[in-house]
Amino acid sequence: MNKHIFITRPIPNTGLELLRQKGISFDIGKFKKPPTQKQLIEALKKKPYDGVISFLTDQLDGKVFDACPTAKFFCNFSVGFDNVDLEECKKRGIQVSNTPGTSAVAVAEHTVALMLCLTARVAEGDRFMRSGKYRGWDPDLLVGTDLRGKTIGLIGVGQIGTEVAKILHYGFGSRIIYSDLKPSIELERMDKTEKLETAEVIKQADILSLHVPLLPSTRHLINKETLATMKKDAFIVNTSRGAVIDENALVKALEDDVIKGAAIDVFEREPKMTKGLTDLHDIVLTPHIASSRISAREKMSEIAALNIIAGLETGNVVNNVCQS
Ligand code: NAD
Repeated sequence: MNKHIFITRPIPNTGLELLRQKGISFDIGKFKKPPTQKQLIEALKKKPYDGVISFLTDQLDGKVFDACPTAKFFCNFSVGFDNVDLEECKKRGIQVSNTPGTSAVAVAEHTVALMLCLTARVAEGDRFMRSGKYRGWDPDLLVGTDLRGKTIGLIGVGQIGTEVAKILHYGFGSRIIYSDLKPSIELERMDKTEKLETAEVIKQADILSLHVPLLPSTRHLINKETLATMKKDAFIVNTSRGAVIDENALVKALEDDVIKGAAIDVFEREPKMTKGLTDLHDIVLTPHIASSRISAREKMSEIAALNIIAGLETGNVVNNVCQS
């Protein structure tokens, strides 16, 4: 196939091999860190690319599409697609795809690891040891709480939320309450599991875990008002997208002991940190690594390549998020 695409940054060979087999040539960006929009535009202006394998750190809007009007397929190497101006794509007949399901197990395991980090105070213990404060075993030192027996609140039970529910239901016997726009056949089969209104999930959860995409309807879903309705000893875990939580409100809530703690992998202004976030002792922070596993990255590479190949071959990408 005489087609040429741009790939913003290196991806695993699984996808590149599929592109080679189809005779699709590609240029890979040589950026050492996520490119600025200006750098991306400069790179895309160089050739009349037919499509792009893009990253969640690429802000894809009208300015980028103007830089390469021949590119009609932007296939994100990620599950999320909140980096793309979908209205602009619809106007221009540009198709956008994502890599659904490729990291559900990885993100779910990371989510449960963060929950255990909070209940068992793992990160606090690590910081304590490194600061040279340990003076020997003490029954009152960093006393935690059990994960078993906690009511888990899930907002969004798509691919990732469902995997989290499975680990907690079958592994810990947890009571799960959840909200979603759609019914979930898998969760309906689990006992001690109940679908509630989102406000009720927020109110009743001992551990609230967020698994919705970032959309206008989910931006700042967790804010000053909703935080105030939570249990005083509740934890929040966020591995979805940073802006699902109003981070200024979260910092204030933790400072004022409105809730007990939080663990977050994604940030509202990443890579920048909201003021006060890193000063808090009752928060665990990981650098957007929930899906960072070889298995997930290889699958993401494969699916992103298959998505763009379908677009170039048939005119229709697979996993077209503009239709959702
Ligand atoms: P998914 O599309 O399978 O599930 C999302 C679910 O949220 C759907 O069932 C949808 O109906 C529901 N939903 C949407 N709006 C809602 C609302 N207002 N209230 C309640 N439910 C709502 O997606 P997924 O694969 O489970 O991924 C979820 C999100 O996780 C992604 O959009 C992405 O932003 C994020 N993610 C993060 C990482 C990471 O590395 N931290 C990795 C992968 C995905």
